Amino acid sequence: MNTSPKRILIVGGVAGGAACAARLRRLDEHAEIVIFDRGPYVSFANCGLPYYVGGIIADEKSLLVADEALFRERFNIRVHTRSDVLSIDRGNRTITVCDLVSGEKRTEAYDALVLSPGASALRPPLPGIDLPGIFTLRTIPDSRVIRKWIDERQAQRAVVVGGGFIGLEMAENLSHRNLTVTVIEMLNQVLPPLDPEIAAFVEERLRKQGVTLALGDGVAGFEAAPDAGLVVKSQGGNAYEADLVILAIGVRPETALARSAGLEIGSRGGIQVDEHMQTNDPAIWAVGDAVEVRDWNLGQNTLVPLAGPAARQGRIAADVICGRPSHFRGVQGTAICGVFGLQVAATGASEKALVRAGDTDFEKIYLHPTQHAGYFPGAKRMHLKLLFRKSNGRILGAQAVGEEGVDRRIDVIAMAIQKEGTVYDLEEAELCYAPQFGGAKDAVNFAGMIAANVLRGDLPIVHWSEPVTADTILLDVRDPDEFTSGHADGALNIPVGGLRHRLAELPRDKEIRVYCAVGQRGYLATRILMQNGVSVRNLSGGLAMQP
Ligand code: FAD
Repeated sequence: MNTSPKRILIVGGVAGGAACAARLRRLDEHAEIVIFDRGPYVSFANCGLPYYVGGIIADEKSLLVADEALFRERFNIRVHTRSDVLSIDRGNRTITVCDLVSGEKRTEAYDALVLSPGASALRPPLPGIDLPGIFTLRTIPDSRVIRKWIDERQAQRAVVVGGGFIGLEMAENLSHRNLTVTVIEMLNQVLPPLDPEIAAFVEERLRKQGVTLALGDGVAGFEAAPDAGLVVKSQGGNAYEADLVILAIGVRPETALARSAGLEIGSRGGIQVDEHMQTNDPAIWAVGDAVEVRDWNLGQNTLVPLAGPAARQGRIAADVICGRPSHFRGVQGTAICGVFGLQVAATGASEKALVRAGDTDFEKIYLHPTQHAGYFPGAKRMHLKLLFRKSNGRILGAQAVGEEGVDRRIDVIAMAIQKEGTVYDLEEAELCYAPQFGGAKDAVNFAGMIAANVLRGDLPIVHWSEPVTADTILLDVRDPDEFTSGHADGALNIPVGGLRHRLAELPRDKEIRVYCAVGQRGYLATRILMQNGVSVRNLSGGLAMQP
């Protein structure tokens, strides 16, 4: 039996709204479905905008995933662009819409209303913020204006404020257009969702590519420069000259409509919804960047402005409107970004987030596997961090950076997290292998094996952050030529190959902290020493993780 209402209105026709509309039509051929968007386009690829600015996506039309005609002809859905929804009358179940071309206002009745109004880019009220040349990037017209500005002024210097995903994508794309780029970031690291030691690999790449990083410094204001450019003044007293500024300091959920209609707003400032994406009004659903969702790992409410969750939530809202009992599981923040040839991705909790939440029941390991068999041409190392529960091995989060294969490993671990998997599951995971694609023991298996070894007590580990004391000895088990080319202060060198014959050189009243380049030889050395009665721990991730 078809239980869906007759008239369903959707506010916002991009990621969440468009997904919801298409799913509604697939489930209900008879409902009247109408989308309103205040912008000139629906269903456009906001994620592609930085690449359009950079010229990698050459044709603006490629950004249009679906247009009004396609919605009408294929889905029998009416789309009203340039139509701002001004208010909701919940009592009468109507909305007031303003046609931004004619200026006319009208009311439209609904049986069900879906809000997918997205988020707006933050533009803090700093001195000079309204000077020409300071841009945010959210829509196709935004990207068009930035492109035009660069072309017409032959811009050569850009300052990107904010070192998050969009900020770094813009840094890369502006560099691609031969601008010199400075990224100013308030935190001491780029990519705030990641832990700093993983972000450090990205920072290294950015610097190598000529991007200037001003970390740990906020923007104080902007001034017009005599040469018609801009001067960005920082809180730390620095001044950066620029021909344009991109503000990429985050987004705020677009909640004005929901607030004025008296819908509940959550503690993080997003529209409050239940697991069926329903607001406190049973006839109104909300999805996407505008809503607050539950962090799957930490059990807290959070805002995760990503396209994947928005699309899935749109689909779930459609299901529920059509009488199906779908529910949203929550988010774990699985995300990926490309930065000058690096893939950097994360899923689940970061160490920072766990510490912030007061969680102490976790351990971390680092490894540096290749994306495919080491003997096959083109093998490249990635850096992978895995966080898991000390008490039961449950996987909490993972982060990785490398030139290839990062996406696949983080996706596999993301799925394991969703299925409440443990490191023992990763150890046993059966993944595809041929030499050019992976390893008979894949990077994911290695991560599981190392973590499981730690939990079983076969591999006691330590991290570089733990201070060396008078009771500890650092033991470098690499070859002498490696040792000579650089080693940790105060370390002894006994290569792992000769270790069994030189055990007598190691004091028994001290803890030995073993390290090698990446942790693998250190593991073998740890096993040798443990089985010879030496108190030993392996420095996880080896020298590659030394700060
Ligand atoms: P949106 O897609 O923003 O759509 C909201 C729409 O609602 C807008 O068109 C707006 O005009 C309209 N609207 C708002 N209020 C009203 C109103 N009152 N009346 C009428 N219309 C209204 N996510 C990823 O997962 N991966 C990426 O690589 C990625 N890259 C991105 C790059 C950029 C430059 C940007 C800006 C975002 C990126 N995102 C990425 C985020 C992703 O695009 C968003 O999470 C997603 O689009 C959110 O979908 P939404 O439906 O909630 O909102």
